[in-house]
Amino acid sequence: MTTIPKQGRPAADILAELEQRKAGDAKWREGRVFSLVYHVPGAAGEAHEQLMQRAHALYASTNLLNPMAFGSLKKMETEIIEMAGALFNCPGAVGTVTSGGTESILCAVAAYRDRARRQRPWIRSPELVVPQTIHPAFDKAAHYFGIKLIKTPVGPDFRANVRAMAAKISRNTIGLVASAPQYPHGVVDPIAELGELAQRKKLPLHVDACVGGFVLPWLERLGRPVPQWDFRVPGVTSISADLHKFGYAAKGASVLVWRSIENMRHQIFVATDFPGGIYASPTLIGTRPGGPIAAAWAALTSFGQEGYIALAKQAIDAADKLRLGIRAIPGLALIGKGDATIVTFGTAESVEGATDRSFIPSLLRKVRGTGGEEIYAIADRMEARGWTIDRQHKPASIHLTVTANHGAIVEDYLRDLADSVREVRQDPSLAKSGSAPMYGMAAKMPIRGFVASKVRSVMAEMYSRGAQS
Ligand SMILES: *Cc1c(COP(=O)(O)O)cnc(C)c1O
Repeated sequence: MTTIPKQGRPAADILAELEQRKAGDAKWREGRVFSLVYHVPGAAGEAHEQLMQRAHALYASTNLLNPMAFGSLKKMETEIIEMAGALFNCPGAVGTVTSGGTESILCAVAAYRDRARRQRPWIRSPELVVPQTIHPAFDKAAHYFGIKLIKTPVGPDFRANVRAMAAKISRNTIGLVASAPQYPHGVVDPIAELGELAQRKKLPLHVDACVGGFVLPWLERLGRPVPQWDFRVPGVTSISADLHKFGYAAKGASVLVWRSIENMRHQIFVATDFPGGIYASPTLIGTRPGGPIAAAWAALTSFGQEGYIALAKQAIDAADKLRLGIRAIPGLALIGKGDATIVTFGTAESVEGATDRSFIPSLLRKVRGTGGEEIYAIADRMEARGWTIDRQHKPASIHLTVTANHGAIVEDYLRDLADSVREVRQDPSLAKSGSAPMYGMAAKMPIRGFVASKVRSVMAEMYSRGAQS
């Protein structure tokens, strides 16, 4: 059992041990990881990492819980929100910096619930209408705050189906949510149509641009076709966007941006009876670490628009090359049109199964399987080659969040992928060994409560005493 050492150890020892402990983790600097880390390549990347560390360190002990005490942090927060507001085409926007996408989303959902409580107090069972592809942070928010998520099916292009969402609006609806882009297939939901619907129904519309907020505007400036998704769409009331994703900021920074203070005011929590004094807080957490805010401000101001456009160009070029290469591998198929730098692919069978929505084939699929095991076996073979792979179901597929840092790995990835596909095709038993059957089963298992309980047990085991040693 570990206890706090009786006597402290010298800093040099500790830092050496930390370096050593890191060595076995995922190889993100080498571009072998997707979606978890956003890294800038080359010498510029090294300089950027140093800037992040220094800016973070300068503010590591500070706390934005009291903006009066740390005026410089409040000023940075205000400037970050102004920069984000201008980028999302609403110069008058307001908002808060949060610790990440999940916190931005939790704050938005809590605010919309409280807005409804105030304006429509007869609602007993508040509902948010969302497409199926919405990020699980909304499930978490709904779970924490006692809200029902009404999930609606998406179209064959994986975008939100506006008519399906409209059909689910009821007296209990407190708002609509859609994504730009949604994470699993990388497509932007039809925000313009949803904005119209929201205005017609007098409902707020939140756009989850956690992964897209700091890359779609640059892609648009590069002349890529980007569907309208930001405050230019009149019905959009709030946007979440992660600085620690395509803002390439140090971890722990996101923004929740509001078109106006009228809706944002519901985000502000105030407790008046605490003997320790009046306590007001606009975000979920109490103590608000200054480090990530200073680092995010440093990232935005050091890259500037030109820097971000160059990074977006590197990322989209890498994504384009990966798409071309994947399409050229027999037996694989891309999923979704890909409005951003997200690339998703499966086997031809798993993808075809997903887009064919007729009843009989879906019944057959249940009996015969979706080809899921095969793509999961390919994922296993890729991991054996040192890649950290993001597996998805619905449809069974592999997901890549492509960043500027992935420009250098395109050829290696495609070569390893072609080899992995060949291996699995030559030896079908690979789909019945390794982790493939488990993923295949978890994807197809009709009783989702059973899957949840299994996963909860695995996690509990991970957190059980003695499991680590
Ligand atoms: C990453 C992401 C989130 C959640 O953000 P965290 O920073 O991981 O909490 C929410 N929505 C989308 C679309 C995302 O990609």
